[in-house]
Amino acid sequence: MAVLVTGGAGYIGSHMAWALLDAGEEVVVLDRLSTGFRWAVPPAARFYLGNVGNRDLLAQVFAENNIDAILHFAGSIVVPQSVAHPLEYYENNTSNTRLLAAAAIEAGIRHLVFSSTAAVYGDVADDRPVVESAPTLPKNPYGQSKLMSELMLKDAAVAHDFRFVALRYFNVAGADPQGRSGLSTDGATHLLKIACEAALGHRNAVDVFGTDYPTADGTGVRDYIHVTDLVNAHLMALDYLRKGGDALIANCGYGRGYSVLEVLETVKRVSGKEFVVNLSPRRPGDAASVVADSTVARELLGWVPRHDDLDLIVTTALTWERALVERKDGDLRTIRHKLASAS
Ligand code: UDP
Repeated sequence: MAVLVTGGAGYIGSHMAWALLDAGEEVVVLDRLSTGFRWAVPPAARFYLGNVGNRDLLAQVFAENNIDAILHFAGSIVVPQSVAHPLEYYENNTSNTRLLAAAAIEAGIRHLVFSSTAAVYGDVADDRPVVESAPTLPKNPYGQSKLMSELMLKDAAVAHDFRFVALRYFNVAGADPQGRSGLSTDGATHLLKIACEAALGHRNAVDVFGTDYPTADGTGVRDYIHVTDLVNAHLMALDYLRKGGDALIANCGYGRGYSVLEVLETVKRVSGKEFVVNLSPRRPGDAASVVADSTVARELLGWVPRHDDLDLIVTTALTWERALVERKDGDLRTIRHKLASAS
């Protein structure tokens, strides 16, 4: 049997493809390469170029491979972009998930792991870790588009022979400790990526979005989780579904938050580099503090995080950021070489 990884050329999806191959699984990747890279897909994975919203392509992928489970990463994830272009987010994140689930059910594929997000919670009432049963009041179209997908999957799991696990990611960061993948997306807006770029001199400064939040130092607090622990939660979810587990929604985070200023201090200390920090106004759609209670993932999926260490997250992110520049240069050279020899 094979596992379909949508978005397998992206940040988390590519780590997932490597982890599945490490676990002896057969891997099929579907990605339209809008933000991902072909070189990020492990060579041993079978690759299809295209959109999850392409019904004919899905039918072809299902016909050509013996797929028993889908890990659905493909989607759009930038909060401010979702505020500016909400309908694009509802298409990529909600409509395409609906289409994928319908196609899977029609093809008799019964298991799906969905990339959801802590953004479904919106502002958390207090600074205690949030549980899955907490009210879901997204503050932006991104969170809304993911929440709508969860609701659809829930109803589909009641009506059909189909089950899913939605993993609500907190702030995924860091890179494969073996150096095979990392966050490569151009123009990424995530704090840790931006801080690493500043530490390596690839950008001049880092803006701190908001210093008047009701948190200890006034800056936003997030639960940063190492990407390797996150993909391991997916392996556990896959195993859970294959063993007949019921539909489930589970948080993925460590249960401890760091403020923006704490993250920036850690990047400076670990890298040994100074960079300029600008205190700036709040960013639209941001919540004050979002920290996970992951009891469900630990108890029902048997998830055991092994990289709960901000220094390790920063170290692996910095290592990847250094390698990335060379890798992208290399990729461009390969493309140019191919174009030159084809003409
Ligand atoms: N943030 C910041 N400067 C940046 C990017 C992010 O101050 O350049 C803050 C943001 O306001 C939030 C935290 O860092 O409090 C994490 O933001 P990120 O975009 O990494 O993830 P999100 O929590 O929005 O998914």
